[in-house]
Amino acid sequence: MENLYYEVALPLPLRNSFTYSSNIKISIGSRVQVPFRNREIVGYVLKKQSSPNVKSIKPITKVLDRNSLIDKHSFDLIQWIANYYKAPIGEIFKSYFPPFLRKGKEISDSIEVYAITNLGKLASKESFGRAKKQFEALEVFQHQSELSRPGLKANKISKVILDALISKGYVEIKSLNRKELITNRELSSDAFFELNVEQNKIYKSIKNSSTNLAHLIFGVTGSGKTEIYFHLIRDCIEKGKQVLILVPEIGLTPNLKAELGRRFGEDNVALLHSEMSEKDRAHSWNDMNKGFKSILIGTRSAIFTPFKDLGLIVVDEEHDSSYKQIDGFRYSARDVAVYRANLEKISIIMCSATPSLESLKNCKDEKYFLHKLTQRVKDARQPKFEISDLRSSELKSGLTEYSLNEISQELSKGNQVLVFLNKKGYAPMVFCNKCGWTPECSNCDVSMVYHINPKRLVCHHCGTKHPMPVACLNCNAEDLELFHTGTEKLEEFLKEYFKNTPVIRVDREALDREKLKSNSVLPDSKEPLILVGTQILAKGHHMPNLTLVVVVDADSGLFSVDHKASERLAQLLIQVSGRAGREDKEGKVILQSFVPEHPFLEKISSFDYDKIANEILEDRQTNKLPPFIYQINIHAESLKRPLPEEVLMKIFRSLNLKDDEFIGPKPELIEKRKNYFRWVLTLKSENRKKIHALANQVINMIDQSDYSKNVRVSIDVDPLN
Ligand code: ADP
Ligand code: ZN
Ligand code: ZN
Repeated sequence: MENLYYEVALPLPLRNSFTYSSNIKISIGSRVQVPFRNREIVGYVLKKQSSPNVKSIKPITKVLDRNSLIDKHSFDLIQWIANYYKAPIGEIFKSYFPPFLRKGKEISDSIEVYAITNLGKLASKESFGRAKKQFEALEVFQHQSELSRPGLKANKISKVILDALISKGYVEIKSLNRKELITNRELSSDAFFELNVEQNKIYKSIKNSSTNLAHLIFGVTGSGKTEIYFHLIRDCIEKGKQVLILVPEIGLTPNLKAELGRRFGEDNVALLHSEMSEKDRAHSWNDMNKGFKSILIGTRSAIFTPFKDLGLIVVDEEHDSSYKQIDGFRYSARDVAVYRANLEKISIIMCSATPSLESLKNCKDEKYFLHKLTQRVKDARQPKFEISDLRSSELKSGLTEYSLNEISQELSKGNQVLVFLNKKGYAPMVFCNKCGWTPECSNCDVSMVYHINPKRLVCHHCGTKHPMPVACLNCNAEDLELFHTGTEKLEEFLKEYFKNTPVIRVDREALDREKLKSNSVLPDSKEPLILVGTQILAKGHHMPNLTLVVVVDADSGLFSVDHKASERLAQLLIQVSGRAGREDKEGKVILQSFVPEHPFLEKISSFDYDKIANEILEDRQTNKLPPFIYQINIHAESLKRPLPEEVLMKIFRSLNLKDDEFIGPKPELIEKRKNYFRWVLTLKSENRKKIHALANQVINMIDQSDYSKNVRVSIDVDPLN
């Protein structure tokens, strides 16, 4: 048979594609296994080629998909991302497919379910004797006849009980096509709240607007944003369409999944995030692609999931910086989501109590529709703000006497308290009193942080761990002192100080897979307790008995050079404060500060994010900063110190930029990270086309240059700072 030629994208940091031959007709987007530099890798077919102009074309080893696993929309989206974010197309394909499929494996459409047998249908209570739990479980089966694994979990049927029912012949294991999972899709309508007037207005307005529109719901925490999109999701599912919900943080997925499962069926909601096994991720991907499930909740990269019939995208906490990927190929999942919605002609809803300035500007420019919610549901009031002067009292593990008194008062009233500190570990700094030495990471330009569980020094940038030395490694003096307070130390201190109150630390380290599998990462106790947490806790969680939030260090960010610092600080403080007093109890927030008179803290206390955001926007406009101009960063990194600067200087000279069109080249804030030396050149322009043309010019230079072996150059379009 005649040879056909195909252009194939390979999952490598290379912008060009490669030509291979085959005598089989292969559809665009399919995975193929090809030889590349003495190994076999999985690539993706970009297009057919008529007459290749390359000699010695190698044949495709194996065609992995008869038909492409992704649809035309996905294919177009990948092309757009490659073009807009200047990313190698093979790497985008790689992100689009879950690891399981990237390795060329196949995924099955079947699933095991547990079904009641005829014997089981007839079994009566008596035959169980004292095995009461077994009978209760059987009753669930007698009601529903078939349960999948999530169904077992929802009904609290353990493996031991299931095994007992199976061995008695009352329940059997059946293999089902996953499609059949969603046969029983009655929505439980009593699970929805009736929307209040304000919510209803927004709901109607979004529902009745023509599709193909981006909406921003800007409402204070607890104002009922989530409930609005739940109603819109219901409409979407009733039309037989699917929904994608992006959340910024894995910790938010369990609770949301439970809520949506209650409304739309346990088996109808899938999850996608990096803490799941490869197989589970591949199943979620496949379930959406084939239309087996209606709702997908996922973190950033879930935006790269093909859907059979996507009808709505929700981006919750749209301001959150974790939507931006800053390693590998750099993109903003929120912005990709907006483009995707536009491409598929569906609505997108972005929600936040503290929207990003870019989104607020897009509303002013009438690119997005702005919907404001001004009141909290159930008359819950906004919390009261107080500033506690860190200079005025002796600190105990970073807490003022005033804060400690307030905490004990709230606890004695039976309430819960959140102490917020964005520093992990025990002591952020170790210091030799004799010679001033501090332990630094050998791979990065940063100090190592002391952790106690287990006791060791950890680099928060590359993860390097060392035992804690007994004596100074410079002068040998046994005079090492710990400085500053991290969450571990705060936890230890509060446990000691409030002996009878549970203290629970919630940060990345304390969050494990098991907690993520349960319905919420937070304790469901209503009893007095103290939560100690990092920014994970600032997001979206809802605890009705929490009445006091103490922000241990409100100053970080006040004096930063980064133009985004003030926006981020306002968002963080207002988000954290939003955890206080969410129901009928009044809440209070204490901001601890060394500069209590700082005008910015006063502004935060007004809780008027709208006003703060507008002021920052005006400032950005005057100073010609994003979002009023566009920026693209060119990053260069190398194991050899001088190279990044040399390469960026070469690029810089060739571009002939005007004075107001660039910043740098200069070293990154932390120049050495994971042994790489890093520099950056920022391009700026009021004209998007122009700045993209410049970036394309840079790419051509990089692709044709010979330094790529020793220096990695990468592009960041719309960088965060
Ligand atoms: P947000 O997303 O703005 O933080 P939520 O949608 O989570 O707010 O609502 C806050 C709380 O109020 C939740 O417990 C929610 O169940 C409840 N709630 C929301 N809307 C209503 C309503 N219309 N009637 C009664 N309770 C509501
Ligand atoms: Zn020393
Ligand atoms: Zn390091």
